[in-house]
Amino acid sequence: MVDQLVRATAADGGIRVVGAITTRLTEEARQRHALSYVATAALGRTMTAGLLLASNMKRPESRVNIRIKGSGPLAGILVDAGLDGTVRGYVDQPAVELPLKPNGKLDVGEAVGSDGYLYVVRDVGYGYPYSSTVELVSGEIGEDIAHYLVTSEQTPSAVMLGVFVEGVGATAAGGLLIQILPKAARDEALIELLESRVAALAGFTPLLQAGKSLPQIFEQLLGDMGLQVFPETQMLRFHCGCSFDRMLGALKLLGQQELQSMIEQDDGAEATCHFCGEVYRASSNELEQLLQELQTEASS
Ligand code: ZN
Repeated sequence: MVDQLVRATAADGGIRVVGAITTRLTEEARQRHALSYVATAALGRTMTAGLLLASNMKRPESRVNIRIKGSGPLAGILVDAGLDGTVRGYVDQPAVELPLKPNGKLDVGEAVGSDGYLYVVRDVGYGYPYSSTVELVSGEIGEDIAHYLVTSEQTPSAVMLGVFVEGVGATAAGGLLIQILPKAARDEALIELLESRVAALAGFTPLLQAGKSLPQIFEQLLGDMGLQVFPETQMLRFHCGCSFDRMLGALKLLGQQELQSMIEQDDGAEATCHFCGEVYRASSNELEQLLQELQTEASS
């Protein structure tokens, strides 16, 4: 199934649910960054979380950045996701591998570490980003995001994230975000029922592997609670806005001396985009041209 995001409501608008399938974009990130199994799971979960969080923003250019700094060997994760369905991201230590947990699952919690912080920055498109930080709960990411939503955004939420990785790569990835909106926030019976439904799902990837679509998964969870699935399906993809021109712009910021030494000592410059792994090379001639531009700007 192609990467996609679907929204729905239930309980007369008291429950908001968003589902995402992110298998292909997770596999693209794995290939771009040569990620280990556990790093694929950690980044795939975080990218899915970013897309789910971005999905309730308003302006088309809205974006969410998620930064996780944990005590585990992956060290850090950074994800940038947009309401437009694009996402990019990386982990600081992509090669780290850990033994599986006793239940056979990838040990994302150990790889991220349970000591540390989750930073979320919401850029609503007006130029004044809203940011918030919470301590990590488990490093499993789903729980940490849910904790963030409850404490920082005061929205009781259940987050389910899953990435299944095997020898050929990521073969199932995605997640669900279920939120209780203010009009239903005091309905204890509804919240309890929802919690028991979520607990009864044996994880997100088994549902995908069983061939279920997002509306079918919603139906299983909320089918008897006035479920209304929005007809639009939004496509999701890994996308980075970096380019050769942007790389030249960044080099120019280094200044004349630095450029001069790159020309003389390195015969050019090479830069790798952290977010997507793309490598850009500038020749000495291209650096010379930047240098001339700087000199012209300085003398004018
Ligand atoms: Zn890039």
